[in-house]
Amino acid sequence: MNPFAYERADQVETVLEALSRSPGARFLAGGTNLVDLMKNGVEQPTHLIDINRVASLAAIQLLPHGALHIGALARNSDTANHPLVRQRYPLLAEALLAGASPQLRNAATNGGNLLQRTRCCYFMDPAFSQCNKRIPGSGCAAREGLNRIHAILGASDECIATNPSDMSVALAALEAQVRVRSTAGERTIPIADFHRLAGTTPELDTNLQPGELILAIELPKNNYATHSHYLKVRDRASYAFALVSVAAALDLDGKKIRSARIALGGVAHKPWRSEDAEQVLVGKEMSIDLFQAASEKVVAGARPHAHNAFKVELARQSVIRALSVAGGLA
Ligand code: SF4
Repeated sequence: MNPFAYERADQVETVLEALSRSPGARFLAGGTNLVDLMKNGVEQPTHLIDINRVASLAAIQLLPHGALHIGALARNSDTANHPLVRQRYPLLAEALLAGASPQLRNAATNGGNLLQRTRCCYFMDPAFSQCNKRIPGSGCAAREGLNRIHAILGASDECIATNPSDMSVALAALEAQVRVRSTAGERTIPIADFHRLAGTTPELDTNLQPGELILAIELPKNNYATHSHYLKVRDRASYAFALVSVAAALDLDGKKIRSARIALGGVAHKPWRSEDAEQVLVGKEMSIDLFQAASEKVVAGARPHAHNAFKVELARQSVIRALSVAGGLA
């Protein structure tokens, strides 16, 4: 591991002040992804700012207009088990509990979960010299190499990696907002604009700007609490990343669908919301045939690679299954 400076800050203001002194510094919270990447040499920060003592960032509370504020520093376990999350956003609780292991969820924070990096094996191992995400302009070893876990939707020639977060898939379906702050002030980023597709700049995972600290995630009020489901399909029953996951939520009037949300994980460089598929459902009576039609829309633009063509059918079937469970048909 390379040498690095370490300091602690206990207020948002002192965090931002420390960052303005060392613009390349990284925030250390749970460390469950960053420290791993530092150990294997993928990340080499020269300065870490430990934000674990910024108590104000750990709050989970209802806001006056009915949205739920979830602090960036709240742990994944505490978030998943919080009564307000379980009652109002069970989809998020399910997604969080599908991620990692209990020990990791006890340490990992919501802000860190939003920022976790791809588990593409060529990115994770600096022994591989071709990875545009790690070394811009070096090529993409996964395109002609092992690409079983890689993207089938929205990928570019430069990078076919997937985003590994379960939490972010639920947040995409729930239309979360991410509140961030820098010395220039605060701004709110819709979750759909928080993560990026790889395009020609795969080294960038998000639209977070240098100097910005994630303060909180805000979830707007909705009517999805009683009919939602997070389905995660993976190689083993726990402690594995999704091959495909689906966050499905329905707002129902009897069997009629007033509105729907569908987002997928494991298929793209960012959580993949399918508004086309949602539109197939709106105003119709629930049925397996209808869910099948929606699933076709989800994979309409899929472009699989040598080892991951199975994901197209897996994604389709997972959408049908997740909607069926959400709607009480399964
Ligand atoms: Fe690197 Fe992306 Fe290619 Fe993986 S898919 S080798 S992360 S450029």
